Amino acid sequence: MQSASVYGRIDGPIVMIGFGSIGRGTLPLIERHFEFDLAELVVIEPSASHRTFLAQRGIRHLQVSLTRENYREVLGSVLGSGRGFCINLSVDTSSRDIMRFCRELGVPYIDTVTEPWPGFYFDEDRPNAKRTNYGLRESIRAEKSAGGVGSTAVSCCGANPGMVSWLVKEALLVLARDLGRRVAVPSHRAEWARLMHDLGVKGVHIAERDTQVSHRVRQLGTFVNTWSVEGFLAEGFQPAEVGWGTHERTLPAGANHHESGCRAAIWLDRPGADTRVRSWCPTPGPQFGYLVTHNEAISIADYYTLGDPAAPVYRPTCHYAYHPCADAVMSLHETLGAGKMPARQHILDEHEITEGVDELGVLLYGHAKNALWYGSRLSIDEARDLAPFQNATGLQVTSAVLAGMVWALENPGAGVVEADEMDHARCLAVQRPYLGPIEAHYTDWTPLTHRLGPFGEVPAPSDPWQFVNVLAP
Ligand code: NAD
Repeated sequence: MQSASVYGRIDGPIVMIGFGSIGRGTLPLIERHFEFDLAELVVIEPSASHRTFLAQRGIRHLQVSLTRENYREVLGSVLGSGRGFCINLSVDTSSRDIMRFCRELGVPYIDTVTEPWPGFYFDEDRPNAKRTNYGLRESIRAEKSAGGVGSTAVSCCGANPGMVSWLVKEALLVLARDLGRRVAVPSHRAEWARLMHDLGVKGVHIAERDTQVSHRVRQLGTFVNTWSVEGFLAEGFQPAEVGWGTHERTLPAGANHHESGCRAAIWLDRPGADTRVRSWCPTPGPQFGYLVTHNEAISIADYYTLGDPAAPVYRPTCHYAYHPCADAVMSLHETLGAGKMPARQHILDEHEITEGVDELGVLLYGHAKNALWYGSRLSIDEARDLAPFQNATGLQVTSAVLAGMVWALENPGAGVVEADEMDHARCLAVQRPYLGPIEAHYTDWTPLTHRLGPFGEVPAPSDPWQFVNVLAP
């Protein structure tokens, strides 16, 4: 059991929106690391599944679905005093609208993803460019510039998006040390971007391998995952997106730029769940990952841009390369083949999982030492020992929510922020006890290593790290 550092007191109501796999796992960390009045803790969750659990712990449950029509009334009835904290861990609610309302009230806010109201992800009449995370992130950027500073709202602060942005900074300092560079820790965005540039980093994969398995055989028609099935399907069926670096020479087929906004990313005219990339993690070595769109692919490329965003001097390529657990890979294959949503869904919990690790890190590539993977390798056994009600995937997320809450309490007037803009050292100090080993691994692997034959592909051998080499046909 993790010994409890108490990071502060939350006065007023603590509202948790959504009590799914991440909400359940976040609860014990809040109980352990903050002082608060239990009578002021409220869970807003439409399902009755955890009613008894909440009642036994003396936690008030508002069994209601937040909607575009009722969210101000429901949240206002609890948070109207302008004190407390709002933790949004739901699907199908608008992060932008709820964040805006919390800031109007002066209540700190955090979420783990920029979620829209229902209808956005699977709306066939909406052009693909409008179903991107680029667009969702731009709506938060607009909120940030329109709203001035004001009360702190932490956007997209889970494991990824979230923690991985802190790991990128720590990895840059590790790489600088191992390249024999004596560098001061950068103090602002442009200095971090300059450091990444000077170290010769061409890009970053958010490289994840989930090896968690259960003894139960997955049934045909059941989508099994280690976190939200709805969340994974929603992002998986958005277009694939890539933070687009300045070293890239060739756009892949189906690539599109955006006409406005930060300009840091492109989108591909294919769903991320059906787009594979070549990547690398410590346990498997080389592996395929899915190029599922994520906020961090865009925010990291944006944060480390030097020069005019429309014609940058430097920008890293950045994207997710996700190998989910074996049951989820099979579920995805079945769902894509069937061309319809699964009949049933199931999230593997800590009691069913018999073994496995979620290794989630950042692969910084293209520099003098080729590639560095830096990240958390948390096993299910460690996760069970560290905190209740969650598997290894969940604990990487919930501990980042904890870190984001601590940072928000310590920085109350920071306005809307992303993980890239927070103090990575403070956040990782809070989160680190829950991450298992954090390790650095160098590899000589490139996307041109160990290929089974070109089969019509035309690799670009002069620079193995071109995205067209990373993208599998
Ligand atoms: P989940 O599917 O297990 O739970 C989501 C919960 O939201 C459910 O309990 C559901 O009943 C509730 N909900 C649905 N509609 C609602 C509404 N209108 N009002 C209030 N509640 C509503 O999902 P999860 O695994 O707990 O994930 C929660 C969120 O965290 C998702 O948005 C997911 O994408 C995100 N997430 C982020 C990361 C990260 O690293 N950044 C990782 C995992 C999950």
